Amino acid sequence: MRTKYNRILLKLSGESLAGGKGHGIDTERLNAYAQQISEIVASGVQVAIVIGGGNIFRGLQGASKGFDRVKGDQMGMLATVINSLALSSALGAVGQPAKVYTAINMFPIGEHYSKWRAIESMERGEVAIISGGTGNPFFTTDTGSALRGIEVEADVMLKGTRVDGIYTADPEKDPTATKFSEITYDEVYTRGLKVMDLTATALCKENGLPIIVFDMDTPGNLARVLSGEPIGTLVY
Ligand code: UDP
Repeated sequence: MRTKYNRILLKLSGESLAGGKGHGIDTERLNAYAQQISEIVASGVQVAIVIGGGNIFRGLQGASKGFDRVKGDQMGMLATVINSLALSSALGAVGQPAKVYTAINMFPIGEHYSKWRAIESMERGEVAIISGGTGNPFFTTDTGSALRGIEVEADVMLKGTRVDGIYTADPEKDPTATKFSEITYDEVYTRGLKVMDLTATALCKENGLPIIVFDMDTPGNLARVLSGEPIGTLVY
């Protein structure tokens, strides 16, 4: 496979790991992702991954039920570590080596993240799964993935979702919504589109990291995006 990108940062939401169940980890979905990821590594692409934790816990939702926000966010960050361990295990099962890095030191669950260790992993053909978000409360894993994508010098950030791109309105609610094939960071902001939070979008814009939003739940789509097929929405 010829690819447009040598090194990517793949962002998966925690919710997508839950599959149809809406909560927890759906092993079929997890294994399907592992399969797609191992295929692109085999084609020579260097892959770093950031996974969310929304299938297990979100600090903001916890705060609305009386949790201390910082503790809730710490729980959310730990949730991303759980998801990352699950994905690394699924990758191992399909013969794809992966290493979990953690934003906060919790060796031996993962190795403490550093840009250079993550890059060395990718250069060895391992998938670098960078967990724990930014390590700080009041951030999201979208921001964490923008940050890590910039740090590890990824060519693009791929946001795998269950929707096949960015629409003028929520296509699950508004049947007249139309899809953008590409859109600027500024237009995402001025149109108030809910692609990623503003901090993440601003980081990508300031550092010139393009984003592609695409449907990761259809097998083979990850490879299609990498080969340059215009199946998602490019934010530039
Ligand atoms: N989180 C945080 N700091 C970070 C990243 C994540 O505090 O840098 C917490 C926050 O509570 C968030 C939760 O971890 O709600 C799970 O992440 P996120 O909501 O981004 O997951 P996703 O929506 O992608 O499943």
